[in-house]
Amino acid sequence: MRSTQVAALLAFALAALLPMLPGVPAYWLTLGSLIGLSAMVALGIVVLTGVAGVVSFGQAMFVGFGAYTTAILTTRYGWPPLATLPVAVLLTGLLAWGIGAITLRLKGHYLPVATIAWNISFFYLTGGLDAFGRFDGISGIPPITIAGLSFAGGASFYLLTLAILALMVVATANLLDSRAGRAIRALRGGVLAAESFGIDTGRARILAFVYAAVLAAISGWLYAHFQRAINPTPFSVTVSIDYLLMAVAGGVGQIGGALVGAGLVTLVRDKLQDVLPALLGTAGNFESIVFGFALILILQFAPEGLWPHLRRWVGRRPEAPAGSPVAAAPSPPPAGAPAGAPAPLLSVVHLRKTFGGLVAVDDLTFRVGAGEIVGLIGPNGAGKSTSFNLITGMLPANGGSIGFRGEELRGWPARRIAPLGLARTFQHVKLVDGMSVLDNVAIGAHLHGRAGPVAGALRLDRAEEARLFARARAALARVGLPGAGDTVAGELPLGQQRLVEIARALALEPALLLLDEPAAGLRHAEKQALAGLLRAVRASGVGVLLVEHDMDFVMELTDRLVVMNFGAELAQGRPAEIQANPAVVEAYLGSAA
Ligand code: ADP
Ligand code: MG
Repeated sequence: MRSTQVAALLAFALAALLPMLPGVPAYWLTLGSLIGLSAMVALGIVVLTGVAGVVSFGQAMFVGFGAYTTAILTTRYGWPPLATLPVAVLLTGLLAWGIGAITLRLKGHYLPVATIAWNISFFYLTGGLDAFGRFDGISGIPPITIAGLSFAGGASFYLLTLAILALMVVATANLLDSRAGRAIRALRGGVLAAESFGIDTGRARILAFVYAAVLAAISGWLYAHFQRAINPTPFSVTVSIDYLLMAVAGGVGQIGGALVGAGLVTLVRDKLQDVLPALLGTAGNFESIVFGFALILILQFAPEGLWPHLRRWVGRRPEAPAGSPVAAAPSPPPAGAPAGAPAPLLSVVHLRKTFGGLVAVDDLTFRVGAGEIVGLIGPNGAGKSTSFNLITGMLPANGGSIGFRGEELRGWPARRIAPLGLARTFQHVKLVDGMSVLDNVAIGAHLHGRAGPVAGALRLDRAEEARLFARARAALARVGLPGAGDTVAGELPLGQQRLVEIARALALEPALLLLDEPAAGLRHAEKQALAGLLRAVRASGVGVLLVEHDMDFVMELTDRLVVMNFGAELAQGRPAEIQANPAVVEAYLGSAA
């Protein structure tokens, strides 16, 4: 077990002992319950905001969905509380899906603003409609009873809350450490990078949104049976901001941070509600003002929150980069390309791309066969990276065609192209910085798995995960970084991050590999090892399209070259022919040498 898991277990065990302490004031248990309920919502925000990067000012609304669902069903229709829980979860999940589908398309600040709008609408809807009891709310909600036991309050409700929170913590940790969780975490490395490995990023965002909403709804369900009466106030935007503050104060990317933040904010709010009115001489929600300022200050000065600092006390420092040099690794059996006949794998014909008046790719035609390394070279700005983006579906072409394994790819999104066996690396490295190297490489293996979020949260995906990680480890060993798996990707030197990108691409088991300046930042010995790896990749029947400025590397390695200049083809041929071509020497090689 990791030290963080031990610490979490210890914290929950200690918290569970609280009611047994002699002379514990009942109020402590109430406060403890409220902290637990808040922590559930903050936990959802960890996934939604900390991991998926979606900021929501509307989580209190989802708490309200859970609370109102059970309040209405139990008081008006006589349902037993336990029976309303699945309804609350399902209803909230569906509504969050719908709201997410509409809202998550919004970019930049419009998305947080939209969540505020939803929350305000909900507040006035519940406050204005008879069905929701208007601003008086709904009272007479029965306590939760399970198998004859009543969880009306005090120690019993506190322990129930703690148990459910513990389950949520485990489920959240499991989810983040699963295929679906990696898809959510991949959003941090850039949507296009994730899509180019077959990840449906829109779906990953909605999943995070729905998950956070469901945790909030369960919190609301508990809350309604705890207070026994509800009204719109605890589900307003003001409270949503408190939840956000909890997650941010603790450290928004961290599960532990949600727990610490919920405890801290709830306790401070409790104190402020006594102190501030006494100081100011009038009653009012002055703590909201203090919290608003606190949120701004934390975002400004400690955007990482408290958790990273606490965690340092708990132990487990991040590991140092492995820094192992690239070795010419033995290559495992071939990737998914048919070996043998050098059939054209990729066939680019009259490809064209303009950016406004600039013609970035101008009537480009070339082929790459299986088991062949083709170099795409030319001066900076010649259109090489743009060609990659057109072939991989990251940019739409203005003209021409892209044939790959019998399909016409033009107009296809990146996510549909990857499953055909096309993988790439990026000139500007696009890894998920905060994630381990091995998890990053496993993103490349995404399409080789099927497990969804539920299987992930319930740990039913272990066999498949073992397969995906075996694939990722093999790929990492192939690029000569077998020991770097646990290193945080962003801590590796840039040259090695490029190798990790190659490993991620290999984990897809591509038929065609597109490498954009893979040798940049590598030392001589590392370049030699990379050349060895690419020869092994070629020998396994995979086609390679290589953009690279190191001419020794290119001339030694490639079978054919395509030279671009100002978006157009300048020459094509074998390395020796290209080196002897006066036009190429004048436009590029003269300066490159
Ligand atoms: P290379 O990779 O060969 O150095 P690029 O393909 O990156 O060249 O760029 C080709 C040309 O297209 C450059 O003039 C560049 O400024 C322009 N370009 C590339 N991407 C964009 C973009 N997204 N928007 C506008 N211009 C772009
Ligand atoms: Mg480029």
